[in-house]
Amino acid sequence: MQPTGNLHIGNYLGALKNWVRIQHDYECIFCIVDLHAVTVYQDPAELRAKINETAALYLAAGIDPTDCAIMVQSAVPAHAELAWMLTCVTPIGWLERMTQYKIKAAKQESIGDGLLQYPVLMAADILLYQAGIVPVGEDQAQHLELTRDVAQRFNSLYGDTFVVPNTSLPTVGARVMGLDNPTQKMSKSATGLNHAVALLDAPAKIRKTIMRATTDSSPAVDFETAGPGVLNLLSIYQAFSGEPDDAMQARFTGMRYGDLKKQVAEMAIAHLEPFQQRYREITADPAYLAAILRDGAERVAPIANSTVRTVKQRMGLYT
Ligand code: AMP
Repeated sequence: MQPTGNLHIGNYLGALKNWVRIQHDYECIFCIVDLHAVTVYQDPAELRAKINETAALYLAAGIDPTDCAIMVQSAVPAHAELAWMLTCVTPIGWLERMTQYKIKAAKQESIGDGLLQYPVLMAADILLYQAGIVPVGEDQAQHLELTRDVAQRFNSLYGDTFVVPNTSLPTVGARVMGLDNPTQKMSKSATGLNHAVALLDAPAKIRKTIMRATTDSSPAVDFETAGPGVLNLLSIYQAFSGEPDDAMQARFTGMRYGDLKKQVAEMAIAHLEPFQQRYREITADPAYLAAILRDGAERVAPIANSTVRTVKQRMGLYT
């Protein structure tokens, strides 16, 4: 995750919740991508604080640092080093086609080179560790495809070097939409007051945002004809609760939208209140957090350095 803005329930349901679910099934590395954050200007003091906040949110969600590595991207220089080598095998046309680049570039007066290179750095984050599976929300699927293309291109130019990774999307919650506008994905950078539920929002704020969510002109839930706003609320409920489709239908069919929103809000609060309590406990001990990030970087650096060494050898660079 990028340590910018306020992490929201889209980040949680699309990514973080699934990381917690699979963390003991694989050897996992969870990165806080601060080098990605600076592809657009960040206030330095705020960025530094957000790195710690993001790490604390990973822990509060239930990532177990004794089993998984939690690390900050800029603490392992191999990320930037590999990104350069991958840049040199990536056609610029592949990058110009990226939807996220087009959206972000449209918001800038002058487009920084880093914004275009963003997916190459992301490919480096993944390929450095020879990752087999990358669990992300749907908005990252295109970048994962690019990562696969870059890995394959490198392998065909220089011989088998990288594992070609697979994308893992959640079945529900892969694309949580804005509550104020269900045709746009929920995003940290959107400015609308009722756009997102942030993971650290107080219960009263969560209730208010969800109660104001856009629905449609029908009075009650009909799964056959529901518009995007109602479908978004239903999928938020289902992603939090894990309830199967038939139970969802039985619970919500014919329910008035006001009652649907109340149930969604209470479900979100029931999950986020204990989460926020853990967050407060974790942030009360900054030394603990710093030790986890240091340990995470120390654990992964040998893997990353070994990949960079191999890549340099394959390319004929100085080792
Ligand atoms: P980012 O905030 O861009 O660093 O994204 C962190 C993770 O959250 C990525 O895996 C994204 O795919 C996921 N994510 C971000 N926004 C959403 C959303 N609205 N719905 C589902 N997943 C999301």
